[in-house]
Amino acid sequence: MKTHRIAVVAGDGIGLEVMPEGLRALEAAASRFGIGLQFDHFDFACWPYYERHGQMLPDDWKEQIGSHDAIYFGAVGWPEKIPDHISLWGSLLRFRREFDQYVNLRPARLLPGMSAPLRRRDGTPYAPGEIDMWIVRENTEGEYSSVGGRMFEGSEREIVLQETVMSRHGVDRVLRFAFELAQSRPKQHLTSATKSNGIAITMPYWDERVAAMARQYPGVHVDQFHIDILCAHFVQRPDCFDVVVASNLFGDILSDLGPACTGTIGVAPSANLNPERRHPSLFEPVHGSAPDIAGRGIANPIGQIWCGAMMLDFLGHRKAHDALLQAIETVLASGGDAPRTPDLGGRASTADLGRAIAEVVGA
Ligand code: ATP
Ligand code: MG
Repeated sequence: MKTHRIAVVAGDGIGLEVMPEGLRALEAAASRFGIGLQFDHFDFACWPYYERHGQMLPDDWKEQIGSHDAIYFGAVGWPEKIPDHISLWGSLLRFRREFDQYVNLRPARLLPGMSAPLRRRDGTPYAPGEIDMWIVRENTEGEYSSVGGRMFEGSEREIVLQETVMSRHGVDRVLRFAFELAQSRPKQHLTSATKSNGIAITMPYWDERVAAMARQYPGVHVDQFHIDILCAHFVQRPDCFDVVVASNLFGDILSDLGPACTGTIGVAPSANLNPERRHPSLFEPVHGSAPDIAGRGIANPIGQIWCGAMMLDFLGHRKAHDALLQAIETVLASGGDAPRTPDLGGRASTADLGRAIAEVVGA
């Protein structure tokens, strides 16, 4: 049996509280399905490490975690002590770039027992599973290039410039991932988001590459929307989407909006993937370190557990992934005295909910 080596980085705030529940669920799945998992814990990428060392990561961080099969990440950021741009750019965003994690993947799925904040136009609620989409965001270039600068700083002639960078290689590889994903799903539907009427050079290029790739996937139904109207559609008819692909900035927006359409941020997972597996991929919940509730043991651990399921899937263990997801759904669907954290309307602790899910996985 191959043992997968997992680098565990819990980070800050509630990352430290939800991570043990993620590990508990993973251990239950590993023992049920006979999967070898080795967890190596790292104490960097958090405020206490920064306080001791004046940087978020050790100089040899790439050597320390670069040969692992995956990185299981909690949350980074402690704005009271360290500005977000330092904590983020000094850790997570370096992982993304250096490990070429060019796909950011997030599901937005309505789970049973969760009340969606949205209603159909006729006022009826969506049923579990009716909202079920994957947001695929380009994660390494686009609008988040650091190309640009300032001139005449502080004067009335001040000029600020930041470029969008799209390479054929960079656009095609994320589109290929999205088309493959769409092809593997029952609806085989892919939606691309751009803004080609306003951003008239890079966005039409993205559209062109979508059209070129669509010819290689004749079974996939493709549509394209401008980002503004697509955001409106997400809210008004979120059940009409399957796989949605977008550039770095637009994907960033959609991948927060998508999960928000399905309920609490506490359940949403995400993956930063290097699909060729030349470098480790990173799996993290969508939520941040949530300083407002940190230290109280009430954070919802489902986002952390669900991204652990995505990690198992990526490592080739689809059945274990399905069992974990099923366990989350079973616990959420069971009414009565089922443990629910406050964001789900209950009074259970992080550990109560985590234990209940791990028990179902192991059963
Ligand atoms: P980031 O800076 O990482 O994007 P953020 O600081 O904008 O994140 P979060 O830390 O995710 O935001 O917190 C946003 C809100 O959601 C907070 O009120 C927080 O308490 C709540 N929240 C986040 N995660 C959870 C969770 N797992 N369980 C319950 N509530 C959560
Ligand atoms: Mg934050």
